[in-house]
Amino acid sequence: MQCLTVKIRFFPEDPKILRQLGKEYVRVVNQLTEQADRLGAFPKMTTKHVESLLPSAVCNQAIRDAKSVFRKSKKLGSRPVLKKPVYFINNQNYSISENTIAFPIVVNGYTRKTTFRAMTTNRDWEWLKVAKMGLMRIVEKAGKWYAQIALEIPTNVSNGETIMGIDLGLKVPAVAVTSTGKTRFFGKGRQNKYIRRKYEHRRRNLGKLKKLSAICKLGNKEQRWMKDQNHKISRQIVNMAIQEGIATIRLERLENIRKTARTSRKNKRNLHRWTFYQLQQFISYKANLVGICVEEVNPAYTSQTCPACGEKNKAIDRRYECLCGFNTHRDRVGAINIMHQPVTDGHSLSA
Ligand SMILES: [Zn+2]
Repeated sequence: MQCLTVKIRFFPEDPKILRQLGKEYVRVVNQLTEQADRLGAFPKMTTKHVESLLPSAVCNQAIRDAKSVFRKSKKLGSRPVLKKPVYFINNQNYSISENTIAFPIVVNGYTRKTTFRAMTTNRDWEWLKVAKMGLMRIVEKAGKWYAQIALEIPTNVSNGETIMGIDLGLKVPAVAVTSTGKTRFFGKGRQNKYIRRKYEHRRRNLGKLKKLSAICKLGNKEQRWMKDQNHKISRQIVNMAIQEGIATIRLERLENIRKTARTSRKNKRNLHRWTFYQLQQFISYKANLVGICVEEVNPAYTSQTCPACGEKNKAIDRRYECLCGFNTHRDRVGAINIMHQPVTDGHSLSA
């Protein structure tokens, strides 16, 4: 487990309210520790016993904070007094998206979970998706507002030798095979095809009507859909790699996918080369964040070569069979070979 903090800038429309709540939070903590100091112990209490302008979830956090400040003060022999306004929200009460954060504040005497526009970097967003989120701390620094979130990142535990081979394709977007003996298929190839065909059909219809801007819009929509799919698939792949304790992910060097896809006339229309590239970038990026190495391998004949003896065979139906006795599902062969391929140029991909 690795701990770190991400700092997300956000933009409150009315910073006065937040400033006031920050002061109130500090006031409550100081008041409760002072009270405990007088009593010589921290009394049992709930938010009902505390008069404050804070949302009850935040008030609860203030009580917890006061308790720990009091404990510290007993050790130190003197009571620390908080001065800087601050506001804490526990992970049950805030939420984050790629461009917003939401947490409870009090407006006109009512608690409202309020959404703020926020700027989350891609990197932070990827961390947030794999991490266990802890407390959120709201602070103002030089007129700018930040939400700091404590994260616990699962560390990839591997013996350094476990490998995952990934074969990207049109029919099945991604096949992963691991040296721990697992195989998984990712994404829905047919659905991809269906969606692309649907958009293509619409594009053609619009083309007849010469509605250029509508065609562009449609293109963007399709791209967004593909991007979303790639994000999902790459996330699932990296999650599987974490689960299996994979040290290294091996991917095919991309030129080959382009070449084979180009020669396959049947898929020519449906092909969007860049989506492979994008998926590979997403996998590398997400894998690197959790310390998994990503390597590119020589892609020659990967889907036809027998992983056991090196003979070339074509699969019949869904079955790949070799005279040497090796046989498996057709779609696994590529990934198995990628897993065993030597690394090209000796360098690994990093996003
Ligand atoms: Zn063989």
